Amino acid sequence: MAAIHSDSSCIFCKIIKGDIPSFKLFDSDKTYAFLDIGPLSKGHCLVIPKYHGKTLQDIPDEHLGEILVVVKKLATATGSTNYNVLQNNGRIAHQVVDHVHFHMIPKPNEEEGLGVGWPTKSADMEELKKYCEEVKSKM
Ligand code: 5GP
Ligand code: ZN
Repeated sequence: MAAIHSDSSCIFCKIIKGDIPSFKLFDSDKTYAFLDIGPLSKGHCLVIPKYHGKTLQDIPDEHLGEILVVVKKLATATGSTNYNVLQNNGRIAHQVVDHVHFHMIPKPNEEEGLGVGWPTKSADMEELKKYCEEVKSKM
């Protein structure tokens, strides 16, 4: 089992340790959840592995297993029926805090919560098929 890895300069590691206060919602040996201080809507919260890592691939599998279960509990506890689960990796993908975190963002109406741009392109089926095989071969 991977030991808990922490970074003394990371704001979320400081929150886990209790060196920076947070409105804690859930706390187990591997997972921590708290209210976001810059909410997009009421109930916007963050679920994080206690293991420090910048992007998803930096976190060992055994430290990710509880995250979606907690997200689900929080969606229920906040009474959210419409909501987005978001996890940003990298600056141009909107990551600001370099400790993996999953947002649970209630979407109570059109105005509040996450606004999503979804610029779809039409796909070539042959290209999709080739690409699917290429990715599968690397998994
Ligand atoms: P990102 O853009 O990296 O996916 O989102 C980072 C999130 O962390 C933002 O929604 C921001 O409001 C939240 N955040 C940043 N610093 C703090 C903090 O000190 N406490 C809490 N509770 N949330 C924070
Ligand atoms: Zn950290």
